[in-house]
Amino acid sequence: MLLNVGVDVDGCINLGDRVCCDGFNADSSIRIQTHAHLDHMHNFEKSKAFQKIIMSAATYEMLLPDHPDLEFRRSQVVCCSTNGAMNNVDGVAVSLFSTGHMLGGVMPLVNYDGSFLLYSSDFSWPLPGVSLPRVDYLIVDATYGEPGKNFRFSHEEVVESFSSLIKRLSRKGNVLVVGHRGRVEYAVSVISKNYTIPIVCSKRICKTLHVYRKYLNFSGRVYEMGSVEATEVLSSGGAVVFCTSRERLDEYCVDFKDKVELSLFHGSKKECVTSNGSQHYVSFTDHADFQGTVSLIESVSPKVVIVDSSRGDKTSAAKLSEYISRTMNIKSEFMLGGKRVVV
Ligand SMILES: [Zn+2]
Ligand SMILES: [Zn+2]
Repeated sequence: MLLNVGVDVDGCINLGDRVCCDGFNADSSIRIQTHAHLDHMHNFEKSKAFQKIIMSAATYEMLLPDHPDLEFRRSQVVCCSTNGAMNNVDGVAVSLFSTGHMLGGVMPLVNYDGSFLLYSSDFSWPLPGVSLPRVDYLIVDATYGEPGKNFRFSHEEVVESFSSLIKRLSRKGNVLVVGHRGRVEYAVSVISKNYTIPIVCSKRICKTLHVYRKYLNFSGRVYEMGSVEATEVLSSGGAVVFCTSRERLDEYCVDFKDKVELSLFHGSKKECVTSNGSQHYVSFTDHADFQGTVSLIESVSPKVVIVDSSRGDKTSAAKLSEYISRTMNIKSEFMLGGKRVVV
């Protein structure tokens, strides 16, 4: 059987002739939207016009404020469970597995007559409660896939250090917390569940916070930046303000004593919190490291691995691909531009 498996130059992931993920391919009748991050939303408008779109219920709810028309396209949008159950969508067998990367994030598996094609999407590792099947083809994300890029801290350690940092800083004055979408809302849930520190969130976060509340199960009060209540809370000091990395808060003229960035890049290798005066970095990540990437590959023992080099650093992708073929002895391709392969 000849199938199109691979990554297009614009980042569209092809899982066979009928399914594409996180991009648009005019030959595919189905698009799978693995999560709501912008680098996975290419040509979403085109897909709305021409394709059936599969996603998790949480991703659907999260996309709704920016794409209200999805509600009127309910026959076109298929929300599937994220527990790996098989769904038959227009004759194609599709399963979604939760990735732990961001709320609603999934790894799609497509089964064509007994050939299994898996796209890792962005994923964290380990994946609690997820048991993945053996697959024939794996398209893998390479964000931290470069050999040797390993994280030294467990998720629990990072959450613990972040919580105590916020507790300590908020005693001095207002604290600003900045992070990528998904990660920053998760941080809101951590503080909301454990402390009574006043929380203020940017407009962008407030737009979809109800979805995180529902799935991450937290209910504490959150003030929207710019509202009268938020201004009052901020003038008393000691509040935590959350905003996403793409936003600026200059217009609000708020005085922050400290700024915390949820980012792996600036942290030191020894501590999961690094401070430089009033600037702090917490090694929060929602991606697997190199060892996690290898563990994913081992757990699905694919015949061929295609490394996605369209997102993130191309050198890392090339090095990962080389490691897979040389050290793991699995045929690996590092490529851009779709390719037809026999499965
Ligand atoms: Zn992502
Ligand atoms: Zn990504």
